[in-house]
Amino acid sequence: KDFRNTIKPNWCPGCGDFSVQASIQRAAANLEIEPHELAVVSGIGCSGRLSGYINAYGLHGIHGRALPIAQGLKLANRDLNVIATGGDGDGFAIGMGHTVHSIRRNIDVTYIVMDNQIYGLTKGQTSPRSAAGFITKSTPGGAIEPSLKPLEVALSSGATFVAQGFSTDLKELTAMIEEGMKHKGFSFINVFSPCVTYNKVNTYDWFKEHLTKLSDIEDYDSSNREQAMQTVMKHEGLVTGIIYQDTETASYQEKVKGYSENALTYDNLELGEEKLDELMKEFM
Ligand code: SF4
Repeated sequence: KDFRNTIKPNWCPGCGDFSVQASIQRAAANLEIEPHELAVVSGIGCSGRLSGYINAYGLHGIHGRALPIAQGLKLANRDLNVIATGGDGDGFAIGMGHTVHSIRRNIDVTYIVMDNQIYGLTKGQTSPRSAAGFITKSTPGGAIEPSLKPLEVALSSGATFVAQGFSTDLKELTAMIEEGMKHKGFSFINVFSPCVTYNKVNTYDWFKEHLTKLSDIEDYDSSNREQAMQTVMKHEGLVTGIIYQDTETASYQEKVKGYSENALTYDNLELGEEKLDELMKEFM
């Protein structure tokens, strides 16, 4: 299955978002789903363009609101694999309320955040993920607030799948997206996706120097929430791999009475060729 389309991304050369796009395409191909079985919903920001670069249903939504749309899609059509994407500004500032409630709601959606610790599209302002002291045109004297900690927030909000990747490690990133898509419930994947144009602090080299792979930690058990939280805190959030997965808790859909019998599927849409023609004419 080919999830590539002919649109050339207009990200800056070297932007971390290219790898996230490629990893989503590879994960979907590895899962052997068809393009019409995947929907990618994005918010606003450089990362928001991603939904237009994948051969699947795509919706470039509004700032911080990719998740409500993605959850609605999943509830309306249980056959769809739904991915929501955005940046750290999109998901952890204006969209933070949706992020936390989506995590605790546990609808079967994969949420991938391209975390570059800055606002790139608007040319380099401090974001909720920028470290204290981070200097940009919006904080010329250095950011006063500490950086938001998405992994701790996710783990303490009842997340059933938490992972973190790095743009240069396509193999690990693809594998965790695949696992996230297979997970029954909400999967939260934070990706360090450097902004090469505006963030001159959190560069590829900086991450290479500071990141620890969970696979290198002896006896790390991703089914243990307490260990996950302690490990994330000890490494100040700078770990990659599947941090936590709970395969026992039922997803939101599984808890909704009658969902499996009544939610839409392609089969029960009953769209014959005639009806399809009629609908297409309405759109033209
Ligand atoms: Fe990527 Fe930064 Fe360029 Fe945006 S401004 S496309 S985040 S490198």
